[in-house]
Amino acid sequence: MIKIGVTGGIGSGKSTVCAIFASLDIPIFEADLEARRLQDNDSFIRQQIIKLLGKESYSSEGIMDRKHVASKIFSDKSLLTQMNEIVHPAVRELFHKWVLKNQEFPYVIYEAAILFESKTISDFDQIILIVADQPLKIKRIIARDSISEEQVKLRMSNQMLDRDKIKLADYIIDNNDLELLYPQILKIDKSIRENGKVW
Ligand code: ATP
Repeated sequence: MIKIGVTGGIGSGKSTVCAIFASLDIPIFEADLEARRLQDNDSFIRQQIIKLLGKESYSSEGIMDRKHVASKIFSDKSLLTQMNEIVHPAVRELFHKWVLKNQEFPYVIYEAAILFESKTISDFDQIILIVADQPLKIKRIIARDSISEEQVKLRMSNQMLDRDKIKLADYIIDNNDLELLYPQILKIDKSIRENGKVW
């Protein structure tokens, strides 16, 4: 089974790109979504997060208070690292089980904002990095999430720079222009299906 990692900074267009791969009948494992599910539903993970960030991290209904958690972890690298160490191993385990259930597909995609940073690249045969210009990414996120430019920049400051990620990626998708996105994805998809890897 060929496992492809798709990553890119906040607002680079991971969901947009993966929606196109999904339309080509490729299963997508959304790591950030699975992480949120575990944070809300896995009692062991909840206990560890409360221990790290306080009981105000959860509502009385047991849903993680993402505003509170973001305010803590995005301004403290050590807390962010510890949070990732709580959640990532469980997400990884889920992914490996999910792969076993999707053996009939030519390849599967793992989509995550943090991939190089979480040292899990050895799990993947190939890594696709999505890049877009910083001002454009900021504009898209402000429009999508109604958050301030400062909040976007704070989140970006916790991610590796594109210029460092480019060196580690096997393939780069330029997402500055929607029209140019499709041909890039079709080319990669065709090549993986034909060769078992990207050109
Ligand atoms: P995050 O890291 O926050 O999950 P992401 O990398 O998944 O973000 P998307 O949600 O795909 O990014 O894109 C961010 C926003 O920009 C979305 O509202 C999306 O519709 C828009 N967008 C993405 N790519 C393009 C594009 N090529 N042209 C126009 N809008 C785009």
